[in-house]
Amino acid sequence: MKTINVVVAGPRGRMGREAVSLVHNTEHFQLVAVIDRMNDGKSLSSVDGFTGIDVPIYTDAERCFQEVKPDVLIDLTTPEVGKKHAELALHYGVRPVVGTTGFTKEDLARLTELAEGKGIGAVIAPNFAVGAILMMKFAQMAAKYFTDVEIIELHHDQKLDAPSGTAVKTAELISMVRPSKKQGHPEEKETLQGARGATYDGIPIHSVRLPGLIAHQEVIFGGNGQALTIRHDSFNRASFMSGVKLSVETVMKLNTLVYGLENIIE
Ligand code: NAP
Repeated sequence: MKTINVVVAGPRGRMGREAVSLVHNTEHFQLVAVIDRMNDGKSLSSVDGFTGIDVPIYTDAERCFQEVKPDVLIDLTTPEVGKKHAELALHYGVRPVVGTTGFTKEDLARLTELAEGKGIGAVIAPNFAVGAILMMKFAQMAAKYFTDVEIIELHHDQKLDAPSGTAVKTAELISMVRPSKKQGHPEEKETLQGARGATYDGIPIHSVRLPGLIAHQEVIFGGNGQALTIRHDSFNRASFMSGVKLSVETVMKLNTLVYGLENIIE
């Protein structure tokens, strides 16, 4: 298998550390540099927890892409930085695999246009855990039979965006198969603002942020005399890495942007 040269942005982050380890330990992947906002010009091996991983650190993503010319960028940073990195990567012919969440429909449209203009692939996946993809697919199946549904997503308290990309994606998939509907009592009033959560096409989404959590989601369907709960839990960040690996391999064969891991797994 041809070696894929990879740059990881956000290597000191919780997801970034797992991604560096994945790339470093995968035979046909080669870590060629990292993009971080500190330690410019140093070797990653001089940073705590990366002993023996001797690749350059760049704070300037543009310079990194120009000098290193990687095949793939894995971005696990923050929404604003991730968007900038993905755009720059495509501009320089580098295929982005983005796990960073918080991209809007407009961001996706702009990046799709860029990827297609360059004729190269991009993968943006708000959730790289295969179990979470199955949860979304099962929720879409259930929505054909249960039209009343609410989503509760639970994450660690350092997460910057709410609701989670996975919750929005789940609501999108559900609204593709159920007729638009305003749920609850027509005269329902919130006596405390936000009590009923955010809504996507009439589907309430509730975001819980607590220390100790990683990434969890429940999709609760209610019907006449019955309820169905579909739940997925990521207990550690290694749970996301099989999806990252598959995305890096797949993005090399694409010539457009694919949003969502469900569109690249069989
Ligand atoms: P994190 O621990 O806060 O890591 C983010 C990292 O990005 C930090 O090391 C931060 O550096 C770095 N960073 C900030 N600005 C940067 C810049 N300009 N250049 C390079 N690096 C920069 O967050 P996390 O939990 O790893 O999550 C990262 C992203 O992945 C979030 O958007 C999260 O929602 C998403 N996520 C996705 C999945 C998925 O399956 N797709 C799963 C979990 C999380 P500092 O330490 O200096 O701030």
